[in-house]
Amino acid sequence: MKIHEFQAKEILARYGVPVPLGQVTSSPAEARDIAKGIGKPVVVKAQVLVGGRGKAGGVKYAATPDDAEARAADILGMDIKGTTVQRVLVTEAANIAREIYLGMIVDRDSKSVLCMTSAEGGVEIEQVARTAPEKIIRSYADPFLGFPEFRARQLAFAVGIPPNLTRDFVKIVRALYQALVDADASLTEINPLVITNQGQLMALDAKIVLDDNALFRHKDLEALRDLAEEQEQERRAREFDLSYVKLDGTVGCMVNGAGLAMATMDMIKLYGGSPANFLDIGGGARADKVAAALRIILSDKSVRAVLFNIFGGITRCDEVARGVVTALSEVPTDVPMVARLVGTNEEEGRRILAAAHMGTAGTLAEAAQKAVAAAKGHS
Ligand code: GDP
Ligand code: MN
Repeated sequence: MKIHEFQAKEILARYGVPVPLGQVTSSPAEARDIAKGIGKPVVVKAQVLVGGRGKAGGVKYAATPDDAEARAADILGMDIKGTTVQRVLVTEAANIAREIYLGMIVDRDSKSVLCMTSAEGGVEIEQVARTAPEKIIRSYADPFLGFPEFRARQLAFAVGIPPNLTRDFVKIVRALYQALVDADASLTEINPLVITNQGQLMALDAKIVLDDNALFRHKDLEALRDLAEEQEQERRAREFDLSYVKLDGTVGCMVNGAGLAMATMDMIKLYGGSPANFLDIGGGARADKVAAALRIILSDKSVRAVLFNIFGGITRCDEVARGVVTALSEVPTDVPMVARLVGTNEEEGRRILAAAHMGTAGTLAEAAQKAVAAAKGHS
């Protein structure tokens, strides 16, 4: 679960991370008052759970309270990567001398917490990883020692923190680690961590991703869940007990079983396509669940073709086929679909789908190839 920048900053501030003054609001008039209270130029920032707000026009400088009101009016209601901005953070503007990246993640490869820092701050770390991987400096926490001072000092040196700010940097690194451990987070990140013209370190942006499986022991954090902004599809999937993860590709997939879903996604990639989602309808899914799953897939505008890969065991192929037909009668679409049904009642299932003019395939390889070709042909 992701939380908003202002919430992440509040948490990190409790650990001693320096953050600029600020307050959230959903009203331009109030943005003006907040800016007035701060008494200096401010930055008005969209609070949405997606990255790259700056580039999308969701971060604006305002020299005066009047400006702050106008910028808040611009940003509130704006659409950023599919989410509507409901709130803005009005925060003290900083004069930036340098922007640094600093982040902690739970790293599966090393089975420990990995701290990454880079002098290429302000840009997304994934981009630095692609274009200049040598500019990312890595250091690992120790499960028993935590993140020791000497390692944090090494990082400060490696990233070129001025000697007079080393102590402050070390504190911030350790705060980020402690916050991650205490909150059961999978990521705590400050990007950019800036050095101001006044020679101070300051967290201008913060991100925390919480581990959903640990939320039961963090009721206070769970209360921060932003239902309005959680992906509509993911919310509906939860309602129908479907495992759904949205991805960036164009081939929607509906599969029964997590392992089979992953194999299906691999096959799509093997044939040059890319999956639009991971979706496991689980064992024994009935028609209504299948219909709900298909509606979720089709509500994703980037889906150009749908691939069904159903292995009928407890799940009956005819039942799945009926669900598909039901969904199609409710949500008419011209998105091409390919189904591969094998196992219990497969002939009946194929007959139902053929009657509904849906393409079928005998093997997963054939189905994946057809779906990828269909996705490329359909725009
Ligand atoms: P993101 O685009 O969602 O990551 O939003 P950020 O909060 O990281 O802001 C993007 C960029 O806007 C930062 O990297 C800074 O360059 C700039 N920015 C943000 N806050 C300030 C500020 O207070 N002063 C100045 N001068 N620039 C800022
Ligand atoms: Mn940022």
